[in-house]
Amino acid sequence: MKQDVLPVEADLVAALCPPGAGADLHALASRIFPICRSITGDGVRQTLDVLGEGIDLVRTETPTGTPVLDWTVPLEWEIRDAWIKNAAGERVVDFNAHSLHVLNYSTPVRATMRLADLKPHIFTLPDQPDLIPYRTTYYQQRWGFCMTHNALEALPDGEYEVCIDASLKAGSLTYAEYVHAGEVEDEVLLQAHICHPSLANDNCSGLALLAHLASAMKSLKTRYTYRFLFAPGTIGAITWLARNPDAASRVKHGLVLSCVGDAGGPTYKRTEMGDAPIDRIMSHVLKHAAPAPSIIDFFPYGYDERQYNSPGFRMKVGLFQRSQFATFPEYHTSGDNLDFISAEHLEGSLRMVAQAIEVLERDGRFVNTAPMGEPQLGRRGLYSTIGGDKDAYSKNMAMLWLLNQSDGRHSLLDIAERAKLPFSVIAATANILRASGLLIPAD
Ligand code: ZN
Repeated sequence: MKQDVLPVEADLVAALCPPGAGADLHALASRIFPICRSITGDGVRQTLDVLGEGIDLVRTETPTGTPVLDWTVPLEWEIRDAWIKNAAGERVVDFNAHSLHVLNYSTPVRATMRLADLKPHIFTLPDQPDLIPYRTTYYQQRWGFCMTHNALEALPDGEYEVCIDASLKAGSLTYAEYVHAGEVEDEVLLQAHICHPSLANDNCSGLALLAHLASAMKSLKTRYTYRFLFAPGTIGAITWLARNPDAASRVKHGLVLSCVGDAGGPTYKRTEMGDAPIDRIMSHVLKHAAPAPSIIDFFPYGYDERQYNSPGFRMKVGLFQRSQFATFPEYHTSGDNLDFISAEHLEGSLRMVAQAIEVLERDGRFVNTAPMGEPQLGRRGLYSTIGGDKDAYSKNMAMLWLLNQSDGRHSLLDIAERAKLPFSVIAATANILRASGLLIPAD
């Protein structure tokens, strides 16, 4: 067996997504789940404290009132407590039990009122009476609570004491980045939104995946520079873009990650351009990772791909999800909890992102150094490298495709597509052929 003499390059996907990574992701998501985040405030900073344990996150605070593109950084929201007490003084709604109970960005209130007067300030889901809705009031000053419809229906008439111990005052908006420097300045942007309170899939899952990936990449040498951005949705991405036009112009590929822990999908939403390299890469990866992936065209609604793909930027940033947002009944409710995401699906998502990074890092064009007829593989020990392997057939086909297509014009991804084989198999086989001298880089 000649297997040992052929160097196999370090497995990039395994380095970024080691076995058992899903359990780590779920544990990390579980730690940040209870924190009440919003577009500003200490919830974001507390979350960054946890996510930053394994990476050198650089935080940026942008003061309230700062103009950012067409927007203005808003007041900072602090929430300390919120409750509704019945006549007996019992908390019938308690912010400490679930961060969704307070209308996110609510103004403060302290009052006693009849149930009929309180009801206009209470949000429920009559069609999903056991779930608490997630509601925000970022751009309109008002106060309110969210609760299950069943709990509201069970409240007897009478007087209730309400308290939202919150403040809205001048402060700052927080985002954080980790930049992994590669050989070239061209950047890959990976972003997750950090503004949602206790919602597991949307988006503790994305935050955990991104933090894990950044940490796993620390010790690796990469060609591209990778920027991991943890920013509040919309206003956070807009603030980052306003402050970083140069970095934005260096971004050649990118992904927004959200809802990456549930059992649905996977889903990839293309860039505005529609045929950017990242579009092709994600389409390839998802097709080989799942039986029925959903690859959808860009539309100007959703997450921060909207900002990156706006006409002034047109960054090639797509959106990766499991279930598409707003299509699952748990979306923006207390049903989006830690039971709704699983280690298995988090790990699957991480692996797909790692596979996309593998394509970005390893794709290239090669030339067959023995192009006249098929080279004699047995003499070079190449058949023995694949003999007995359970994936022998695909590796054998990968070798033949690589030798046939490596005329300097076809990239490894081109070859993988034409051979209908995963890029990983083509790339690993290309390494074997390079080691034998049968393939050399085209330039
Ligand atoms: Zn959301």
